[in-house]
Amino acid sequence: MGCTAADVVAALRAAAAVVQEHRDELVRLDQAIGDADHGENLRRGFTALLSRLDAEEPASPGKALKLVATTLISTVGGAAGPLYGTAFLRASAAVGDAAELDGEAVARALQAALEGVVARGKAVVGDKTMVDALTPAVTAAASAEGSVAGVLSAAADAAAEGAESTVPMVARKGRASYLGERSAGHLDPGARSTALLLRAFADAAAG
Ligand code: ADP
Ligand code: MG
Ligand code: MG
Repeated sequence: MGCTAADVVAALRAAAAVVQEHRDELVRLDQAIGDADHGENLRRGFTALLSRLDAEEPASPGKALKLVATTLISTVGGAAGPLYGTAFLRASAAVGDAAELDGEAVARALQAALEGVVARGKAVVGDKTMVDALTPAVTAAASAEGSVAGVLSAAADAAAEGAESTVPMVARKGRASYLGERSAGHLDPGARSTALLLRAFADAAAG
Protein backbone atom coordinates (compact mmCIF):
# COMPACT_ATOMS: atom_id res chain seq x y z
CA MET A 1 0.00 0.00 0.00
CA GLY A 2 1.26 3.47 -0.89
CA CYS A 3 1.82 6.49 1.24
CA THR A 4 -0.94 9.14 0.94
CA ALA A 5 -0.93 12.85 1.79
CA ALA A 6 -2.47 11.97 5.17
CA ASP A 7 0.34 9.47 5.81
CA VAL A 8 2.94 12.11 4.98
CA VAL A 9 1.24 14.59 7.33
CA ALA A 10 1.21 11.98 10.11
CA ALA A 11 4.93 11.34 9.53
CA LEU A 12 5.64 15.08 9.67
CA ARG A 13 3.75 15.42 12.94
CA ALA A 14 5.76 12.52 14.34
CA ALA A 15 8.97 14.17 13.15
CA ALA A 16 7.97 17.43 14.85
CA ALA A 17 7.50 15.55 18.12
CA VAL A 18 10.94 13.93 17.77
CA VAL A 19 12.55 17.31 17.08
CA GLN A 20 10.91 18.66 20.22
CA GLU A 21 12.13 15.69 22.29
CA HIS A 22 15.68 16.07 20.99
CA ARG A 23 15.85 19.87 21.01
CA ASP A 24 18.24 20.06 23.97
CA GLU A 25 20.45 17.25 22.69
CA LEU A 26 20.84 19.03 19.33
CA VAL A 27 21.61 22.29 21.12
CA ARG A 28 24.34 20.55 23.13
CA LEU A 29 25.87 19.00 20.02
CA ASP A 30 25.92 22.42 18.33
CA GLN A 31 27.33 23.99 21.50
CA ALA A 32 30.41 21.78 21.17
CA ILE A 33 31.30 22.68 17.58
CA GLY A 34 28.98 25.52 16.53
CA ASP A 35 26.78 28.22 18.03
CA ALA A 36 24.37 26.15 20.11
CA ASP A 37 21.26 26.88 18.09
CA HIS A 38 20.59 23.83 15.89
CA GLY A 39 18.03 22.28 18.26
CA GLU A 40 16.20 25.55 18.74
CA ASN A 41 16.32 26.38 15.01
CA LEU A 42 14.67 23.07 14.15
CA ARG A 43 12.21 23.23 17.05
CA ARG A 44 11.04 26.63 15.81
CA GLY A 45 10.69 25.35 12.25
CA PHE A 46 8.76 22.22 13.12
CA THR A 47 6.50 24.07 15.55
CA ALA A 48 5.63 26.46 12.71
CA LEU A 49 5.03 23.45 10.49
CA LEU A 50 2.56 22.01 13.01
CA SER A 51 0.53 25.23 12.97
CA ARG A 52 0.48 25.26 9.17
CA LEU A 53 -0.66 21.63 9.12
CA ASP A 54 -3.43 22.55 11.57
CA ALA A 55 -4.55 25.35 9.23
CA GLU A 56 -4.46 23.52 5.90
CA GLU A 57 -4.62 19.95 4.68
CA PRO A 58 -2.10 19.32 1.88
CA ALA A 59 -3.84 17.69 -1.12
CA SER A 60 -0.94 15.41 -2.10
CA PRO A 61 2.33 14.07 -0.69
CA GLY A 62 4.19 16.53 -2.93
CA LYS A 63 2.18 19.48 -1.60
CA ALA A 64 2.86 18.36 1.98
CA LEU A 65 6.61 18.21 1.26
CA LYS A 66 6.44 21.64 -0.38
CA LEU A 67 4.76 23.06 2.72
CA VAL A 68 7.63 21.70 4.83
CA ALA A 69 10.13 23.35 2.48
CA THR A 70 8.55 26.81 2.52
CA THR A 71 7.99 26.67 6.29
CA LEU A 72 11.55 25.61 7.10
CA ILE A 73 13.06 28.14 4.70
CA SER A 74 11.09 30.98 6.30
CA THR A 75 11.50 29.97 9.97
CA VAL A 76 14.66 27.94 10.64
CA GLY A 77 17.44 30.28 9.50
CA GLY A 78 21.15 29.52 9.83
CA ALA A 79 22.76 26.94 7.58
CA ALA A 80 20.23 24.20 8.26
CA GLY A 81 17.09 26.18 7.26
CA PRO A 82 17.99 26.67 3.59
CA LEU A 83 19.60 23.21 3.41
CA TYR A 84 16.61 21.31 4.82
CA GLY A 85 14.30 23.64 2.90
CA THR A 86 16.03 22.77 -0.36
CA ALA A 87 15.99 19.07 0.55
CA PHE A 88 12.20 19.07 1.02
CA LEU A 89 11.66 21.28 -2.04
CA ARG A 90 13.59 18.85 -4.26
CA ALA A 91 11.81 15.88 -2.67
CA SER A 92 8.49 17.59 -3.42
CA ALA A 93 9.45 18.16 -7.06
CA ALA A 94 10.62 14.55 -7.36
CA VAL A 95 7.26 13.09 -6.28
CA GLY A 96 5.25 15.53 -8.43
CA ASP A 97 1.48 15.36 -7.96
CA ALA A 98 1.21 11.61 -7.34
CA ALA A 99 -1.63 10.81 -4.92
CA GLU A 100 0.35 7.97 -3.33
CA LEU A 101 4.04 7.17 -3.01
CA ASP A 102 5.52 3.68 -3.15
CA GLY A 103 8.94 2.67 -1.86
CA GLU A 104 10.61 3.53 -5.14
CA ALA A 105 9.14 7.03 -5.17
CA VAL A 106 10.36 7.59 -1.61
CA ALA A 107 13.86 6.41 -2.56
CA ARG A 108 13.86 8.81 -5.52
CA ALA A 109 12.65 11.65 -3.28
CA LEU A 110 15.53 11.00 -0.86
CA GLN A 111 17.99 11.03 -3.76
CA ALA A 112 16.57 14.37 -4.93
CA ALA A 113 16.79 15.75 -1.38
CA LEU A 114 20.47 14.84 -1.19
CA GLU A 115 21.15 16.43 -4.58
CA GLY A 116 19.50 19.62 -3.33
CA VAL A 117 21.59 19.72 -0.15
CA VAL A 118 24.79 19.16 -2.15
CA ALA A 119 23.84 21.75 -4.80
CA ARG A 120 23.22 24.30 -2.08
CA GLY A 121 25.94 23.53 0.46
CA LYS A 122 28.67 21.96 -1.71
CA ALA A 123 29.62 19.49 1.02
CA VAL A 124 30.90 16.02 0.19
CA VAL A 125 31.03 12.88 2.31
CA GLY A 126 33.71 13.33 4.96
CA ASP A 127 33.13 17.07 5.48
CA LYS A 128 31.26 16.38 8.77
CA THR A 129 27.78 17.58 7.80
CA MET A 130 24.25 16.26 7.27
CA VAL A 131 25.55 14.93 3.92
CA ASP A 132 27.39 12.23 5.88
CA ALA A 133 24.03 10.93 7.16
CA LEU A 134 21.96 11.54 4.03
CA THR A 135 24.35 9.97 1.50
CA PRO A 136 24.40 6.45 3.00
CA ALA A 137 20.64 6.79 3.60
CA VAL A 138 20.05 7.38 -0.11
CA THR A 139 22.25 4.43 -1.07
CA ALA A 140 20.46 2.13 1.37
CA ALA A 141 17.04 3.35 0.22
CA ALA A 142 17.89 2.70 -3.43
CA SER A 143 18.82 -0.91 -2.75
CA ALA A 144 16.01 -1.62 -0.26
CA GLU A 145 13.35 -2.18 -2.98
CA GLY A 146 10.25 -2.76 -0.94
CA SER A 147 7.49 -1.01 0.92
CA VAL A 148 7.76 2.62 1.99
CA ALA A 149 8.34 1.42 5.56
CA GLY A 150 11.14 -0.92 4.42
CA VAL A 151 12.85 1.75 2.34
CA LEU A 152 12.67 4.33 5.13
CA SER A 153 13.83 1.88 7.75
CA ALA A 154 16.91 1.01 5.67
CA ALA A 155 17.54 4.72 5.12
CA ALA A 156 17.19 5.50 8.82
CA ASP A 157 19.60 2.73 9.87
CA ALA A 158 22.18 3.91 7.35
CA ALA A 159 21.73 7.55 8.40
CA ALA A 160 22.32 6.65 12.05
CA GLU A 161 25.59 4.94 11.13
CA GLY A 162 26.52 7.81 8.85
CA ALA A 163 25.88 10.31 11.63
CA GLU A 164 28.11 8.31 14.03
CA SER A 165 30.84 8.32 11.38
CA THR A 166 31.10 12.13 11.73
CA VAL A 167 32.53 11.89 15.27
CA PRO A 168 36.22 11.53 14.30
CA MET A 169 35.91 13.85 11.28
CA VAL A 170 37.44 17.30 11.02
CA ALA A 171 34.75 19.69 9.74
CA ARG A 172 35.33 21.26 6.34
CA LYS A 173 31.97 23.02 5.92
CA GLY A 174 29.78 25.20 8.11
CA ARG A 175 30.60 26.83 11.43
CA ALA A 176 32.30 23.74 12.83
CA SER A 177 35.01 24.17 10.17
CA TYR A 178 36.15 27.34 11.99
CA LEU A 179 37.40 25.03 14.76
CA GLY A 180 39.68 23.06 12.45
CA GLU A 181 41.15 20.00 14.19
CA ARG A 182 39.25 20.84 17.38
CA SER A 183 36.01 19.84 15.64
CA ALA A 184 37.13 16.19 15.77
CA GLY A 185 35.67 14.03 18.53
CA HIS A 186 32.13 15.45 18.29
CA LEU A 187 28.98 14.27 16.53
CA ASP A 188 27.80 16.70 13.86
CA PRO A 189 24.43 18.20 14.91
CA GLY A 190 23.00 18.30 11.39
CA ALA A 191 23.96 14.68 10.71
CA ARG A 192 22.28 13.75 13.99
CA SER A 193 19.08 15.65 13.12
CA THR A 194 18.97 14.03 9.67
CA ALA A 195 19.20 10.60 11.28
CA LEU A 196 16.46 11.54 13.79
CA LEU A 197 14.12 12.79 11.05
CA LEU A 198 14.57 9.67 8.94
CA ARG A 199 13.99 7.44 11.96
CA ALA A 200 10.80 9.37 12.76
CA PHE A 201 9.57 8.98 9.16
CA ALA A 202 10.45 5.27 9.18
CA ASP A 203 8.66 4.65 12.48
CA ALA A 204 5.60 6.54 11.24
CA ALA A 205 5.55 4.51 8.01
CA ALA A 206 5.84 1.28 9.98
CA GLY A 207 2.72 2.35 11.90
P1 ADP B 1 24.29 27.42 11.83
O1 ADP B 1 25.58 26.69 11.69
O2 ADP B 1 24.12 28.50 10.82
O3 ADP B 1 24.06 27.89 13.25
P2 ADP B 1 22.59 25.12 12.34
O4 ADP B 1 23.29 25.08 13.66
O5 ADP B 1 21.12 25.12 12.40
O6 ADP B 1 23.11 26.37 11.48
O7 ADP B 1 23.03 23.87 11.47
C1 ADP B 1 24.35 23.37 11.50
C2 ADP B 1 24.43 22.12 10.66
O8 ADP B 1 24.25 22.43 9.28
C3 ADP B 1 25.77 21.42 10.74
O9 ADP B 1 25.83 20.55 11.84
C4 ADP B 1 25.87 20.69 9.41
O10 ADP B 1 25.34 19.38 9.48
C5 ADP B 1 24.97 21.49 8.51
N1 ADP B 1 25.77 22.23 7.53
C6 ADP B 1 26.43 23.38 7.68
N2 ADP B 1 27.02 23.76 6.52
C7 ADP B 1 26.70 22.80 5.61
C8 ADP B 1 26.98 22.61 4.22
N3 ADP B 1 27.70 23.49 3.52
N4 ADP B 1 26.47 21.49 3.61
C9 ADP B 1 25.73 20.61 4.30
N5 ADP B 1 25.42 20.74 5.60
C10 ADP B 1 25.90 21.82 6.25
MG1 MG C 1 24.24 26.45 14.80
MG1 MG D 1 23.38 29.74 13.96
